Amino acid sequence: MTTTRSSADTIALFEKYVIPNYRRYPISLVKGEGSRVWDAEGNQYLDLFPGWGCNILGYSPQRVIDAVRDQVGRLIHVPNTWHTEPQGEFAEALCTRGFGKAFFCNSGAEAIEGAIKLARLHTPKEKYKILTFYNGFHGRTFAAVTATAQPKYHEGFGPLVPGFEYAPHNDLEAVRKLVDDETAAILIEPVQGEGGVNVPAPGFLAGLREICDERNMLLIFDEVQTGMGRTGNWFGYQTFGVQPDIMTMAKGIAAGVACGAFICRDEIAPSLRPGIHASTFGGNPLAMTAGLATVQTIEEEGLLEHCLAMSARFQKYFEQLQSELPIIRQVRVCGMMIGIDLAIDAVPAVKKCLDRGLLINATHDTVVRLLPALNVTEEDVDQGCETLGSVLREMAE
Ligand SMILES: *Cc1c(COP(=O)(O)O)cnc(C)c1O
Repeated sequence: MTTTRSSADTIALFEKYVIPNYRRYPISLVKGEGSRVWDAEGNQYLDLFPGWGCNILGYSPQRVIDAVRDQVGRLIHVPNTWHTEPQGEFAEALCTRGFGKAFFCNSGAEAIEGAIKLARLHTPKEKYKILTFYNGFHGRTFAAVTATAQPKYHEGFGPLVPGFEYAPHNDLEAVRKLVDDETAAILIEPVQGEGGVNVPAPGFLAGLREICDERNMLLIFDEVQTGMGRTGNWFGYQTFGVQPDIMTMAKGIAAGVACGAFICRDEIAPSLRPGIHASTFGGNPLAMTAGLATVQTIEEEGLLEHCLAMSARFQKYFEQLQSELPIIRQVRVCGMMIGIDLAIDAVPAVKKCLDRGLLINATHDTVVRLLPALNVTEEDVDQGCETLGSVLREMAE
């Protein structure tokens, strides 16, 4: 591996030329393998939050590398005025594991925008309102950020998109009071990710399904984070046994290659008639090939089963730790989504872990969040638990 710049050199470029809208760690990463990643100085890290959830197969997954290398030498981009085999095959892979028909774009926010447009198009004219949930997260474009019911993401951007209403999570009575004949859809993450790994209360998602059926509204699941294997099933809706009408995906579906999508029930699909919605790069051969190789890897390596086994291993460790440390308020685990809610600020825990070579995330002020790769090994899990455990023990003193 040849890197010519130190982390400090690269950081200097950023300071001069990159808009400072992200808080970045003072480290330049140069290569990765599995759940391990290296910086320009050759330091190795264990990454239990690889690619912000996008690197669902960890770093450098071989089938994805091979498939993309092969594809890039044949066709990089073909617009949607043509058919391509990779798009047809990836659509088949998603819909046979999920349902319905697929539309492709390049990111989570775009998938949300398209799903909202489809919901308004498909429902009768008087229906336009979209109901979403406090502490949800749906992305940064205008409709997606309006759907994100967290004031900190709205500050200074108004006026936002009209027609959105917000309900408290896990409160069916509040939802019943808020919906009316103008409500087109309910949009929810099966497990709230950015909001702190909030698992739905038993019966909550089924209750939303019932309300949508009673009032002729669509149920949209945002599976940008829960999608493709993360919950131990292909999709989160299968984990909770509740069928949505439309489902958005992005992050992990192509193992880190930029790709977004939504799928919808067959009857809904014709509402997205020719010319009414589009994405220039959507469904491009590189992303589709990467997505297909991701599905094949999950299947051939038995990663859904492995995800559940590693999930139980994390859960056991952190529940044991919780019984020892009163600063741990709650341990929330759903497959490879792990949230440890602390009675104190979670940000210092991330910094202390980084100093010990472990990469994790803090969200919603007090929640330590892990989104490990589906192929995280037992050794990675044990090492990560030990490091994070020692940090939390120190912070509890
Ligand atoms: C990350 C995320 C998004 C936004 O995805 P982008 O690709 O950043 O636009 C939307 N919904 C959920 C649930 C997410 O986790």
